[in-house]
Amino acid sequence: MSKATSKNSYASKACDRCGSKRRISKTWKETVATLTGSTVIEYSQIICTNTVCQAAFEVNLAKETKKRQSLQKEKEKRYEESKKNALKRKKTLKKKK
Ligand SMILES: [Zn+2]
Repeated sequence: MSKATSKNSYASKACDRCGSKRRISKTWKETVATLTGSTVIEYSQIICTNTVCQAAFEVNLAKETKKRQSLQKEKEKRYEESKKNALKRKKTLKKKK
């Protein structure tokens, strides 16, 4: 319950960009696949009540999301590569013995 309380107090804080009031526009849950199975993550979207400020924020957010998605792809690629490399290393170690 403390989680919900902190979320509400976060939303009641003034916007750090323009000082306007903020509010929770929506909350939702997403099931995210992990290496060990899956986990449910609760999201809440907090928006600024100042529409001009919020519009500018959304432009930024879209950029950030794009950046994060490409970073995630890179991470997955590196993970696959390291898995392959780990297998290679194992083989090399065996050869040395
Ligand atoms: Zn604002």
